[in-house]
Amino acid sequence: KTKFTADEYNEALKEAHEKLLQNKDGANADYIPVLAEVPSDLFGISICTVDGEIYDIGDSEHRFSIQSISKVFTLAMVMQRLGIRAIPDTIGVNATGRPFNSIVAIEVQPDRPSNSCVNAGAIATTSLVEGDTYDEKWNNIITTFSKFAGRDLDVDQEVYESEAATNNRNRAIAHLLEAYNRMYFDPVEATDIYTKQCAISVNSHDLAVMSATLANGGVNPQTKEKIIDEKYLPHIMAVMCTAGLYDDSGLWLYYVGLPGKSGVGGGVIAVAPGRFGIAAFSPRLDVAGNSVRGVRAIIEVSRKLGVNLFTVK
Ligand code: GLU
Repeated sequence: KTKFTADEYNEALKEAHEKLLQNKDGANADYIPVLAEVPSDLFGISICTVDGEIYDIGDSEHRFSIQSISKVFTLAMVMQRLGIRAIPDTIGVNATGRPFNSIVAIEVQPDRPSNSCVNAGAIATTSLVEGDTYDEKWNNIITTFSKFAGRDLDVDQEVYESEAATNNRNRAIAHLLEAYNRMYFDPVEATDIYTKQCAISVNSHDLAVMSATLANGGVNPQTKEKIIDEKYLPHIMAVMCTAGLYDDSGLWLYYVGLPGKSGVGGGVIAVAPGRFGIAAFSPRLDVAGNSVRGVRAIIEVSRKLGVNLFTVK
């Protein structure tokens, strides 16, 4: 089925929200100091269909930092700029099989492959965003992300400053990539742009529209603006499948059967191509770094609606 009624969407959201509200497992991310202070019990889920209908439940207006979910959208920008074939060579598209901020993964021979969904590949991806200067690259990112969301997004300054003051590890990753000719802009500036991109403030409603833009072939279903060419979508979604949920990407695909991406701010998105985008937000994370309620909520909703891409009939 590709179309669902409003009742079907609302019912699926309500059931998942009620069920997962009881779940108190996991803990907020705390390696970025201010993330530890976000109220842990917040929980929102949103769906945006390819027709632009929106269904929200719970704390769907609460803003949080997009974090790693941003990685998908800078990949989309770079793919639009450089084409499909450039990505495997410049960044890499295989799973690293290592944690998202792994330095060991960068040492893999022969050509230091990474993946845009983990930090090394993501910082390299940001370094490839169009623009000759820091400001040009950043303006392109915030402008394009805003088009994906259909409203003017901005940065959570507190999250940005908190992470910028503590991101030595990401700077080390960028320098190591530079040493291997896998960094395409000044490593310190690229890391800072990446950090700012991770601090963009969104709610589950915004993320549902952003993922619905992917589900809709690159056209924002609300504003009708075309953000990226349709031909890139299968490749973006493939990268999401390889590493979108960190070390649990296999487990996620096993249960959900949809491309997804999570962030340590507690957000998770999934794309049901040709149908809808879904986003869930709740700050408590599991050991892999994924929102406990967010992941389970999307498992529930996707199962209830029967949208696993690997379903035969
Ligand atoms: N800004 C975070 C970092 O680079 C994002 C990580 C994430 O959401 O996984 O460490």
